[in-house]
Amino acid sequence: MSHVFGRGGAGLPTAVRGEGCYLYDSTGKAYLDGSGGAAVSCLGHSDPEIRAAIHAQLDQLAFAHTGFFTSEPAERLADLLIENAPEGIERVYLLSGGSEAIEAALKLARQYFLEIGQRDRHRVIARRQSYHGNTLGALAAGGNAWRREKYAPLLVETSHIAPCFAYRERAEGESLADYGQRAANELETEIERLGPETVMAFIAEPVVGATAGAVPAVNGYFARIREICDRHGVLLILDEVMCGMGRTGSFFACEQEGVAPDIVTIAKGLGAGYAPVGAMLCSGAIYNAISDGSGSFQHGHTYHGHPLSAAAGHAVVSAILGRGLIARVGTRGAQLETTLQDAFGQHPYVGDLRGRGLFRGVELVADRDSKRSFDPGRKLHAKVKAAAMEEGLICYPAGGTVDGRHGDHILLAPPFIIEDAQ
Ligand code: PLP
Repeated sequence: MSHVFGRGGAGLPTAVRGEGCYLYDSTGKAYLDGSGGAAVSCLGHSDPEIRAAIHAQLDQLAFAHTGFFTSEPAERLADLLIENAPEGIERVYLLSGGSEAIEAALKLARQYFLEIGQRDRHRVIARRQSYHGNTLGALAAGGNAWRREKYAPLLVETSHIAPCFAYRERAEGESLADYGQRAANELETEIERLGPETVMAFIAEPVVGATAGAVPAVNGYFARIREICDRHGVLLILDEVMCGMGRTGSFFACEQEGVAPDIVTIAKGLGAGYAPVGAMLCSGAIYNAISDGSGSFQHGHTYHGHPLSAAAGHAVVSAILGRGLIARVGTRGAQLETTLQDAFGQHPYVGDLRGRGLFRGVELVADRDSKRSFDPGRKLHAKVKAAAMEEGLICYPAGGTVDGRHGDHILLAPPFIIEDAQ
């Protein structure tokens, strides 16, 4: 009997080894890791440089509490991230994962407004098609109905607007550009409805991951969002936990939108599965308001800035940037797009193929013309996952409901080192 409680545990194969793009279970069966778990393993498994960096750090220093010390790997990682961060982003708060990064972002936004005397700003606006993590604040921000429903009312007062999801939300005859502006304008309507003086932040994933399978916004959407946030003094938080770190073909996904956020969160690809590490990065303006005000951000976890995680993160980011892997994501991504088009472009049960770089979504439909989804009760995405695993392929399933419409999506996010034949 398995005593492991939670996702996993009994009934699943036991993973015993990873090598390159493959995972192996205790029977010796190989699985091609087509989704890096949930877009985590961007460097594949068992990378010698990352292992060496973690070993070296372990031999030197495993832990020093951040209330007493900073550490060399934490400083190195923060420097490297800031060198490559969007304009205006100047500080890094290291954490152990994505949900922690989101919690920190929400708290930082709240404290920023307290420091500058705008005490009524506490509300968050997010999108119905979103996932920001499973801790209470992150869950409150996210739009994934089934993950939220058991825990409501949640801690953070959030309202949700429509996503930018051209496949399903664009009106007949509407241009992509017009649709993008219309979708973004929903933010302004919502800010005005709530009262701008009460809204602290808008949070969104530049390319939506777990709820919808790699949905990028249309061109111009995020530029308009940035404009609206600026006009109303609302902070823009971009959640790049899944889509950042080169996954979409640029180090930060928002580079392709031509916008810089006030706060950006990263995780998954930052540790590439070698160590639990996430980060919340913020603008100099936010950092300065707090350091010139009460002096420090009222936050902290025992393991934040952990030296082993920071050493892993630094080695991973150095590898992504130093081995030309972002360019490789571009070429391999284009190849994956063509391969998916050839295989499924005309498939009667595939409604949409989308994504950027090595972050690709396949939306399953019962009927291509009407875009009617399969009955959610059939849990088709979970069946595809199980059937793929049976055949030795890992892909990430997502079944989401947006505006009352269900969708079965399959997410592909293979390691950046994936080869032609794989
Ligand atoms: N934000 C996004 C966009 C995510 O996809 C996830 C996880 O899937 C999270 C936040 C939460 O990250 P974690 O599972 O590391 O807590």
